[in-house]
Amino acid sequence: MKKKLTKQELIQKIGVKNFALVERNVFCAECGNTAIVDYEDDIVLEPSRDTVLRGKCKKCGHAVARVLETGEER
Ligand SMILES: [Zn+2]
Repeated sequence: MKKKLTKQELIQKIGVKNFALVERNVFCAECGNTAIVDYEDDIVLEPSRDTVLRGKCKKCGHAVARVLETGEER
């Protein structure tokens, strides 16, 4: 079952340092490495226990997604 996480819950889960790295380490098809914005309402914990952030590229606004391998936490 998919479960949505808030930004705060995600930060608690992975730690503020890791979160900052993730936020600034996203691949955009248009600009390459970029930061993700507007993802706060679309943070989903997948059945695989990975977490997927869906938002926009900070530079160009293209849709981007970032998968976090949070599956080790059981
Ligand atoms: Zn971009």
